[in-house]
Amino acid sequence: MSPGKAEPGTGASERDEVLADLLAHGRFLGTLSSVGVAWPPAGVEAATGAPAVSQRPEDPEKALQAVREEMGDCRRCRLASGRKTIVFGQGNPRAELMFIGEAPGAEEDEQGLAFVGRAGQLLTDIIEKGLRMRRADVWIGNILKCRPPQNRNPEPDEVIACQPFLEAQIRAIRPRVLVGLGKFGAHWLLKTAEPITRLRGRVGEYEGIPVMPTYHPAYLLRNPAGKKDVWEDMKVVLRLLGRPVPGE
Ligand code: URA
Repeated sequence: MSPGKAEPGTGASERDEVLADLLAHGRFLGTLSSVGVAWPPAGVEAATGAPAVSQRPEDPEKALQAVREEMGDCRRCRLASGRKTIVFGQGNPRAELMFIGEAPGAEEDEQGLAFVGRAGQLLTDIIEKGLRMRRADVWIGNILKCRPPQNRNPEPDEVIACQPFLEAQIRAIRPRVLVGLGKFGAHWLLKTAEPITRLRGRVGEYEGIPVMPTYHPAYLLRNPAGKKDVWEDMKVVLRLLGRPVPGE
């Protein structure tokens, strides 16, 4: 049951609500298992023995849709009260490449889309001019699906509340390469707290998927000198994808 809802009480309507929640959750589990996505994913995996999947499910669209439905009008953390929209992430459900950022900003909250502000425009350049891929062909998402007030850093309990959804999204899409944008994206994927300056450029791994940690586009807007490092990182991404590296 989601926190904002009533605890099981004596009233019939409360019982009906709890029952409806349970039935909806059961349907969600059924859909995920029918498309080969384990739930709950990592984190609680040790407790449940659910194995990590190593292949993309047959129907990633359906798996993503089930994740979105499970999220519903999410009230699992305090960010629900300040957000305008839930920013689920967008792109190709069969993407080979997936970018993971931190959290929606003002523009993203307004539009319900990830990376559509200034940092997003720079990310588009990295994808289209650097990688020579179409933005619509990759998946772009965030650790948090709701905007933190004043764009402050995510709090640990918010990251934990949102974690199962990103885990399930990655399992649904099962990209060939993941890019962790900035400290939060890199730390979430690599389960480390090493500084991004030390992590970037070194390929790590998330559930068997290669991970490239790199600088966040918002950092690059303030520190354009970092762009040459990001380009080096993107060349490695192209090699991991078996795509041509411009100039080589
Ligand atoms: N920064 C992020 O990390 N994500 C967005 O969606 C926008 C800016």
